[in-house]
Amino acid sequence: MKFIGDFHIHSHYSRATSKNLNAEYLDYWARMKGINVVGTGDITHPKWIQELKEKFVEAEEGLFRLQQKFVLENNVLLDNTPFPRFMLTGEISSIYKKNGKVRKIHNVVCAPDFVTVDKIQARLVRLGANITSDGRPILGLDSRNLLELCLEANENILFFPAHIWTPWFAVLGDKSGFDSIEECFEDLTKHIHVVETGLSSDPPMNERCSFLDNYMLISNSDAHSPEKLGREANLFDTELSYPSIFSAWKKRDRNKFLGTLEFFPQEGKYHHDGHRKCNISWTPEETKKHKEICSVCAKPITVGVMNRVMQLADRKNNHTSPIKHPFFSIIPLKEILSELKGVSPQANKITVLYLDVLKKLGPELVVLRETPLEEIKKSCGEELGEAIKRMRNGKVHVVPGYDGEYGRITVFAPAELSRLGPQASLFDEIHA
Ligand SMILES: [Zn+2]
Ligand SMILES: [Zn+2]
Repeated sequence: MKFIGDFHIHSHYSRATSKNLNAEYLDYWARMKGINVVGTGDITHPKWIQELKEKFVEAEEGLFRLQQKFVLENNVLLDNTPFPRFMLTGEISSIYKKNGKVRKIHNVVCAPDFVTVDKIQARLVRLGANITSDGRPILGLDSRNLLELCLEANENILFFPAHIWTPWFAVLGDKSGFDSIEECFEDLTKHIHVVETGLSSDPPMNERCSFLDNYMLISNSDAHSPEKLGREANLFDTELSYPSIFSAWKKRDRNKFLGTLEFFPQEGKYHHDGHRKCNISWTPEETKKHKEICSVCAKPITVGVMNRVMQLADRKNNHTSPIKHPFFSIIPLKEILSELKGVSPQANKITVLYLDVLKKLGPELVVLRETPLEEIKKSCGEELGEAIKRMRNGKVHVVPGYDGEYGRITVFAPAELSRLGPQASLFDEIHA
């Protein structure tokens, strides 16, 4: 069957995350988004795992679901959505010295069962790791040795480097990463089948690096609140089970792993170079001209993902790449509605509109990708239909993100929006 998976997320036990990141709200939001397999996040945290053991039942091999009695009932899509499945996953931060430099790398490990999770936790504790204070623990353990420890717990774990290009905390990051996957994982590199491209890069950027040809490119939301689930995700056409997902990736089976749902990469927080405090946002060319020094504060600039990809790329563009990783660029529905209405995506009015669209048309990712435009126009207005059409065709306006500041993607030019006017007809029947 065809399904969508989002494997890298966090729980309420990780720092700077939403209180609502519990099993009930993950189930709720996976239904709203139309995600079939969602990662649990934070499998190294003993209390989180305790909570999941109490609330889950096994659904298929290696996948779990919430017990019926925990399902939140105030969900407009409850009757029409299957139980979202959960995979046991978690991110671990490794900070260590290697080859003369301090490395800060984030990796994600996925486990097929709770026994494996318990074993990984026990091994980390034996090494003296503190796994109780943060759902995403910080270890002094070399990434290669962390991978080895996980493989010793179970050879069927899935292990991948997270958001590989971000300047900090990434295997290829400019500040504290390596220049290749092998330099990081050495003899165990053969156990790395997939790499997570992160919000600030998309497949065409990655295809410029031939050393990545052998990996499947995957994308996840890295959600720190349940509403952010599925802002990037993965498409499969295989059986719904842990072994099937594992095998699609391990065998590089492009009939079973169909590609990714992606942010427009410019919307990511680290697409361009720059200094947020100094209001400097540069293309790689501008950064080069300034010799990587900020023209406001004279300190080194934060080099973004586009620049870093160009440093490591051996292809001028992706046209000569033998592999084209299929992907589909999306903009979160609330951001589209917010642009149409001229109010913040967090506004109450937008929540009301959002729920109305879902009630009429189904889960968010279905609306963004599949619902016929005519149907969207008929039930939710011309403007929303036009906006989604432009998103699907990649006809968008872009202000790139830089130095931790999210970029902005819009579907209408400012002049067009003012023409639509405050009395635009979208959902006029709703008095939000
Ligand atoms: Zn991370
Ligand atoms: Zn500066």
